[in-house]
Parts: sequence; structure tokens; C-alpha cells
Amino acid sequence: MTQAAWDDVEPLPVHSAPVPAYGTGSLADLLPTLGFHLGVPGCAGTIPELQPVDRACVFLIDGLGWEQLKAHPDEAPFLSSLIASSRGGTGRPITAGFPATTATSLASVGTGLPPGAHGLPGYTVRNPATGALMNQLRWHPWTSPRPWQPYPTIFQRAHEAGVRTAQVSAPAFESTPLTKIALSGGTFHGRLSGEDRMDLAAEQLAAGDRSLVYTYYSEVDGKGHRFGVDSDAWRGQLMYVDRLAQRLAEQLPPRSALYVTADHGMLDIPFDEQSRIDFDEDWELGAGVALLGGEGRARHVYAVPGAQSDVLAVWREVLGEQFWIASRDEAIAAGWFGPAVDPRVYDRLGDVIAAARDDVVIIASRTEPKESLMVGNHGSMTPVEQLVPLLEVRS
Ligand SMILES: [Zn+2]
Repeated sequence: MTQAAWDDVEPLPVHSAPVPAYGTGSLADLLPTLGFHLGVPGCAGTIPELQPVDRACVFLIDGLGWEQLKAHPDEAPFLSSLIASSRGGTGRPITAGFPATTATSLASVGTGLPPGAHGLPGYTVRNPATGALMNQLRWHPWTSPRPWQPYPTIFQRAHEAGVRTAQVSAPAFESTPLTKIALSGGTFHGRLSGEDRMDLAAEQLAAGDRSLVYTYYSEVDGKGHRFGVDSDAWRGQLMYVDRLAQRLAEQLPPRSALYVTADHGMLDIPFDEQSRIDFDEDWELGAGVALLGGEGRARHVYAVPGAQSDVLAVWREVLGEQFWIASRDEAIAAGWFGPAVDPRVYDRLGDVIAAARDDVVIIASRTEPKESLMVGNHGSMTPVEQLVPLLEVRS
């Protein structure tokens, strides 16, 4: 971008970012509300629209945003029928949380806490103890899980309160640190096929007088990253997951409710230099930066000591209104990570945080070669990635 162009572009005010609805309608509010209805101590019913139920099942579809679902009624006839105003559905969107990424969202779901409290505030974040980036999804490099996320999950609290509690997901997730700190409590059941997961989730739901069951499907997100939202592969996955949800809904035992939701939405980013800003090739963005964390649409930028305000100024100047750009303290004050940030989480956040507003990503072609080639992306606060469905089926 030339100097003349810079002069035309005003940085976006931090407060213009549409902050997730923490405390009233975000992913972190879902399980506490269900726990409240199931009589789990310490849980609050912060989503008032949800009615009490004895057996609650959450089906989390990775990557299925509200806007993508609304745009594809033909591929998802069952899920679409659960949307408010169409054929009697009551479903509506809730917000994922910032950043809108799987590790962050799964931790928000399982702990019932916003990212500033559970402490998984990005795809990769700096571990203050080592100074190195840590991948929150793959838990790499190894970090002791419990100090990293010390809060009990809602599943653990439900299990202790005598609620039949189970997770039904892919076998590979059974003993991952992310599962341990975000989703453990009760019994984990690994099943390879989607159909088996649905059948077993219904079985587990029926096995208790009061029950809380979680199940998960990953490949809508996988195909979206690889081929794009609306690609044939993505639409095929949507058709498949629609049938899975219907299969589970049709097996609900009495006094049950199924809640279909997602961890984030997604959007495609064009393959051109304007849309894919390459951090590894941009000396201006790289000046004074010690580490680049997060992901393309939600960057944690860690400055070398003393360079924080310079980095903030340069990122604002170079990126203009394509991103909401905040200092760490501005982002915290604006509530991007929830109403508060725990002291142990504070230094995991970037000195500068850049959240995409336009259809752009900050790639890192050399240090993140795989991620830089993804068609579909997510992470920021725009409705297309932030809004996720909350669809309800009651038996
Ligand atoms: Zn993803």
C-alpha cells in the first residue's frame, strides 16, 4: 500500500467490533444453562429462552455457522426446519466467542467460561513460562494441562451432582489434553462412524433419569478449510450431517432435548495478494514483532520488549480498516475475551490483537505453510464466523 492510500484509511475504533454475547447468548452460556435445568450446583440459566429438560444432548458440528446453514436449506432440510419461523422451529443464532476457533470454543462449551477465564484464547498463543507459541488444538509443545486450564468442566460438575454424563466422539480424542481440560467428566465413548455416535448418544441419554450428553462431528470444518464453503465436498458434508442430526432427533428418549450447535462459522478468502497479506514477506508488519500467534483472521502479535506501541501504530497504519486492531488492554477493556481476563491468561494474549473485518487473512507462508493455503478461514468477530446455530428438538 502506498503512503497516499494510507492517508485515506482510518483505523477502525476498537469499540466498533461486535463483541460476542458473553453472559446472555454465547457458547459459554449453553452448558451452564442446561446444568441449571438439571440441578447442577453453581450453574446459572443465562440463556432464558431454553426451557427445562431432564435429559439434554448437545450435538456440536464443527464449522457450521448460522449464516452458512441459512444459505443452504436444500442441503440441510432437517436442520433448516428447526430455525425460527420456518415450520415451527425455535432455533436462533448464538455467538461463539473470540477468537472463533475450535480450541477456544470447545473450552468455552465445556467449562461454561469465556476465553479470558478458561485461558485458551486462540489457535496458537504464547506460553508465558517458555516464551514459545503453543498450539491449543494440538497441544504442542506439551504443556501441563491442569495449570493451563484449572477450572472443572460442567460435565464434571454434572457427574458429581449425579447426572448421567457422557461424551461420544472420535476415538482419537479420548485422551487428548484438549478433551481432558475442556470436555471430561462422566464417560467418554469413542466411535468412528457418525451413525454410531448418534445411536450411542441417544442410548446414553436414555440411560439416566437426568442426563447430559455431548457429541461431535468434525468434517464440515475440514472440507470447508480445504475446499471452501459451498464447495461440492462441503455441501456433501452438510447433507450428511443433516441426516445425522435427524437420526439422533428421531431416537430421543422421553423428556429429552437435543441442541445442535457449532464452534464457529467460516468464510472463503480469495487467493490474491490483497486478500492474503503475507506476514513472512512484509517487513513493515514484522518490525518489532517477536512472535506471531493466533490464526489468519485473529492474530496475537507479541512485540519485542519496548516495541509494543510502535507495533500497534504500524499495524493500524498498514492494515487500516480491514482489521479491528487493539492493544491487549484495549481488547480486554472492550470485552473481546469476556467480562474479565484471569491474571494467568493475561500474558498469553498478544501485545497487539488484530481481528479481521474484511474478507482478508494475515498468512505466514513460511512459518505456517499449511494454514496459509486454507480456502475457508475463521477466527474473527464478523457474523459469518461468529454466529452459530442453537437449534432445539424436544421429544
Ligand atoms: Zn476450523
